[in-house]
Amino acid sequence: MSDSEKLINLLKQKAKLVAMVAPSFPIMYDFPQIVSKLRTIGFSYVVEVSVGAKKTNEQAVSILKNNPNTRFITSPCPSFVRFMRTKHPDMLHYVALEVDSPMVATAKIVKEKFPGYQPVFIGPCLNKKLESSQDHPNLNILVLTYRELESVFANWSNKSYETNLTNLSFDLAEKSTRIYPIDGGLTDSSGAKNLLKKEEVRVVSGWKNCETAIQEFEQDKKIRLLDVLFCEGGCIMGPGITSKLTLEERKKKVLDYANA
Ligand code: SF4
Repeated sequence: MSDSEKLINLLKQKAKLVAMVAPSFPIMYDFPQIVSKLRTIGFSYVVEVSVGAKKTNEQAVSILKNNPNTRFITSPCPSFVRFMRTKHPDMLHYVALEVDSPMVATAKIVKEKFPGYQPVFIGPCLNKKLESSQDHPNLNILVLTYRELESVFANWSNKSYETNLTNLSFDLAEKSTRIYPIDGGLTDSSGAKNLLKKEEVRVVSGWKNCETAIQEFEQDKKIRLLDVLFCEGGCIMGPGITSKLTLEERKKKVLDYANA
């Protein structure tokens, strides 16, 4: 059964569900219509994953503050984590796996705020499915890409969500981390730049650049933070997004919402 079918079944059973919407959503959907749409098809609560991203930032910054000599590579991208596990297990100790990704941090917040509800992550990333099922099965996060959510909307016989524009606010929202899906989002939104000198930070995106970046990190001991995402340009170019917009146009959509 596909994850879209799983979600449709849960919605039909009137299961207690919380939609966790990734911060790249403005590329695909208008706000606040998306919130209303998700509520209308049956989600009890709709939250921004940028809420969890703030926790991710707090955890990353706390490592930098509390360990002045520590150097690490960021871990929110499950594709990069898998690349390191398979190609460079000898360097895996550099990856800050103790820091929760925004999806995981949000799911933990959801479990605390809405006990008994199942988190459903909606975002641009295919490998978040593996992060959920392999790394955090206890959180029971159902992961859908935007592409899959589109098929849920398309199969929904009751289209009342197209006209029912009520309950337009996110139940949990966080403005400061809405730039997260743009490469360098963690570095730029966490305040890490205030703690580190320019030469101590590297921001890299694109799978083709990862090998060089980790070799440079290994050799250049000045680098204390390597902020890395596997998709070129960041999660705004994730494979689960269906959009003809260019990278720059996608960036603008995310920034416009973040600055609104
Ligand atoms: S960069 Fe790509 S692979 Fe990595 S988390 Fe974002 S969408 Fe997923």
